[in-house]
Amino acid sequence: MTANKHLIIIGAGIGGLSAGCYAQMNGYRSRIFERHSLPGGVCTGWKRKGYTFDGCMHHLVGCSPAARTHRMWRELGAMPRPVHFPEDLIGIENTQGKRFIVYTDLDRLEAHMRALAPADGKVIREFVSAARRLTRFSVMDMLLATPWKMVEALPYMGLMGKWGKRTLEQLGGRFTDPFLRRAMGMIQYDFPDMPALIALMFLAGCASGNFGWPAGGSLAFASAIAERYVALGGEITYRAPVETIMVEEDTAVGVRLSDGSEHRADVVISNADGRTTIFDMLEGRYTTPLIHAFYDNPPQQQEMALHVSFGLARGFPDEPHMLVLWLPEPVEIAGQHCDRLDIEFFNFAPEMAPAGKTAVQVVAPASYDDWQALSPAAYRAEKARVAETITTCLERRFPGFAAQVEVTDVATPLTTERFTGSFKGYQAWGIPGQTMLHALMGKGLSKTLPGLTNFHMVGQWAGGLGLPNVAAMGRKVIADLCKRDGQRFTTTQA
Ligand SMILES: Cc1cc2nc3c(=O)[nH]c(=O)nc-3n(C[C@H](O)[C@H](O)[C@H](O)COP(=O)(O)OP(=O)(O)OC[C@H]3O[C@@H](n4cnc5c(N)ncnc54)[C@H](O)[C@@H]3O)c2cc1C
Repeated sequence: MTANKHLIIIGAGIGGLSAGCYAQMNGYRSRIFERHSLPGGVCTGWKRKGYTFDGCMHHLVGCSPAARTHRMWRELGAMPRPVHFPEDLIGIENTQGKRFIVYTDLDRLEAHMRALAPADGKVIREFVSAARRLTRFSVMDMLLATPWKMVEALPYMGLMGKWGKRTLEQLGGRFTDPFLRRAMGMIQYDFPDMPALIALMFLAGCASGNFGWPAGGSLAFASAIAERYVALGGEITYRAPVETIMVEEDTAVGVRLSDGSEHRADVVISNADGRTTIFDMLEGRYTTPLIHAFYDNPPQQQEMALHVSFGLARGFPDEPHMLVLWLPEPVEIAGQHCDRLDIEFFNFAPEMAPAGKTAVQVVAPASYDDWQALSPAAYRAEKARVAETITTCLERRFPGFAAQVEVTDVATPLTTERFTGSFKGYQAWGIPGQTMLHALMGKGLSKTLPGLTNFHMVGQWAGGLGLPNVAAMGRKVIADLCKRDGQRFTTTQA
C-alpha cells in the first residue's frame, strides 16, 4: 500500500512540487528537500524597491479552462487565478521606427501584415490560416492525453509536419518585403532557428486564450503550488542541499544532506540539476553514452541567460509587451555583439510595479564561462557596464529613460547557478538528434538511470521544456508509481 511508502523529492522546482502534490493526493508520504529558501527553481522572480522582476514566465500554457493542462494547474492549486492576455505576441521595430506587431487577434494581425507588405498576401494568408487552424488544437494537451485521445492530433499532423520543418528565418525568406523578410525570424523570442510551428502554436494559443500570463508572475505561480503541496500534507525543507543519493545494492534508499543528516525513503525522485544528480549525488555510477555526450557538450552560451531589469517611474502604454528593437549601431553586451535589444515591458501586469510605474527587462544571450572568468571586482564592473550600455540605447529610443530609472538589477548565469544549482546557470539544452518539438513533448534524457532502482528524475533535466511539461512529468511519475503499487491514480482539485 502506498500509505506506508516514503518518497523523497530533491528540489522544489515545478517538476518536484508537482510530483510532491500528486504523491500526496495518492497517499504517499513525501518530503521535499530544497537547497534554496524559496520554491520554484528557475520559475522565479525577485523584488527590488517595490518592483517585481520576473526571471522566467513569458507564456503559460493552460490558461483556458477548456484545456487539459488547465485541469492539471487546478489540481496543483495554481489555477484559477487572474491571468493577463497581452494584445501582442511580440513587436519588432526597425531603426526608422517602422513596426510589425504580431497581434494575437488574428484578423487584426492579417490586416496589419497586409498593410505592411501588400505584395506578400499569399504567404501572409498561409501563415495566418495555419494559426487559425491551430486555435482548435492544443499540442501541449497531448502531454496529458490518454493514448486513445491522441487521435485528436491526427487531423493536424500534416499541418504540423509542414510548419515544423521550416524555421522562422526560412519563412521570412518567402517574403518580398525587406522589413518582414528580416522581422519574421524574430517573432518567437527572437530565435531565428525556431521552427515556424512553435511560433504558430504560441500565436494560436494566445489567440484562443490558452496562453496567458498569470498575475504576479513566476514566483507567485510557484508559491501557489508549494502552498498546495503543504496543504496536502507534504513537507518542504528549505536551505537543505542534498549532497548524496544513498544507494544500497543498486537501489536508491535515501539522501544525505550537506549537513551530514541522512534521510531514508522507499523512492527517491530528483528534480535537481541533472549533472549534479548523476555525476555528484550518484558519482557517475549509472549513466549512458547519451548522458555523457549531453553533459560533455554544454553550449558555449545560452539565450535569455542574462536579465537586465529596470524599475521605471513611468508608464509605457503604447509599447507591445515584448519588443525587438533594432539598434542604429551595434553594441557589445557582455562580450556579445548585439544589433538589437529584446525588451519586455510589464505594462500589461500593473502588479509588477508601483502605480504608474513599469518593470522593464532586457534579456540577452550570455556565456557562463565568460562571466565566470571575471574576478569579483571585474564581474561587478561588467554588470554595471552592461546596464549602462542598455540604458544608453533605451535613452535614445525613449528620451528621459535614464532619469526615470529607479532601480537596476543584472542577473547573469552565475546568479541562476547560485540560486538553483543549475549547471552553468543554463536551462537544459537540446539533445543531439532531437528537435524543439521533441523537447516540448517531454522526450529527452532518460527519466530513470540504467541499473538503479527506486530512483526517478523529473523536470527539465529528465527531458522536456517548459512549465506544463515538467509539471506533467511530476504527475506521470506518480501515476507510474501507483501502477507499480497496484493502486488507481487519483487526483483532486484545490
Ligand atoms: C528565462 C526563462 C524563461 C522561460 N520561459 C518560460 C515560459 O514562458 N513558459 C514556460 O512554460 N516555461 C518557461 N521556461 C522554462 C521553465 O521555467 C522550466 O522548464 C521549468 O521551470 C523547469 O522546472 P524544473 O522543475 O525542471 O526544474 P528547476 O526549476 O531547475 O528546479 C530544480 C530545483 O532543484 C533545486 N535543487 C538543485 N540542486 C539541489 C540540491 N542539491 N538539493 C536540493 N535542491 C536542489 C533547485 O534549487 C530548484 O529549486 C523558462 C525558463 C527560463 C530560464
